[in-house]
Amino acid sequence: MTERTTKIGIILPKIKNLDTRALKYLILYQNTLQDSFLFQFLPTQQDSQFLNYIESDKPINRQTVETKADKFIAEYSNFLRKNAKDYKLLEDLPDGFVILSIAKFEDHYYYTGDNNWTMVALGDWKRHMAPPSIVEFFMSLLIGSAIDIACRDKFPKSHHATRGCISDFAASISDVRLSVLTGFLCDSCSDTIKHARSEKLVTDAKDLLAKKWLGNVSEPSHVAETAKKLGYDLFRTKGVKQTFTESLLATVEQEGVKLILKIIGTVIVAALLLWLGLK
Ligand SMILES: [Zn+2]
Repeated sequence: MTERTTKIGIILPKIKNLDTRALKYLILYQNTLQDSFLFQFLPTQQDSQFLNYIESDKPINRQTVETKADKFIAEYSNFLRKNAKDYKLLEDLPDGFVILSIAKFEDHYYYTGDNNWTMVALGDWKRHMAPPSIVEFFMSLLIGSAIDIACRDKFPKSHHATRGCISDFAASISDVRLSVLTGFLCDSCSDTIKHARSEKLVTDAKDLLAKKWLGNVSEPSHVAETAKKLGYDLFRTKGVKQTFTESLLATVEQEGVKLILKIIGTVIVAALLLWLGLK
């Protein structure tokens, strides 16, 4: 029997200053790398009190979010059904919803959820936590969410031991950086996922978490190059937006290479002219 793909519906509330083009591209590109998860962005519901609450600049209450989430998911699913009907689209609800946000919980949690929804709240993310960039935090925590949704109530529980695994228990967002950087899924979590779903889902999750498909600073992949053209340099930008210093360093680096090539070119032309002159 073929393993069923888990459809992950992503809700992206407003993220101040973040140009979301690259984030969306990087997330959707993962659909081409595996078939255990299908990531899909969903339209924003404009008049949702729940989403307005999440978009607040002030710290929000996690228990309030958890209490209201089920009602929101029900209302939001109705909104999607109505949208599909109005535009004569295929009604195709996801298996679970992930809210990627920069909300700040009063108790400084960065992740919460239940069987068919999770919420990532990176309001406490600070520049000193990079690398990895905030975009990579979003990407890894999305895979963690996708695993939880795929496994339903049999999801891997967090473990106290710090292994660099996506299910490491991290008391604060700054501790999550190790698992985002490492991109690892430990044996006990892999085993839990294998029994809840399949070996294939474990392999696919591991590949996505490791992010080898992005390349590195000296050899960025074509995906990382495209993300850069879409406004986000994964290897230089840390936060939601490139700072003046990051932009300056990138320019110096780029112009530096151009300058060296220009000098080499000038030397070759001068040598050629000299050689022709001597003849
Ligand atoms: Zn683990």
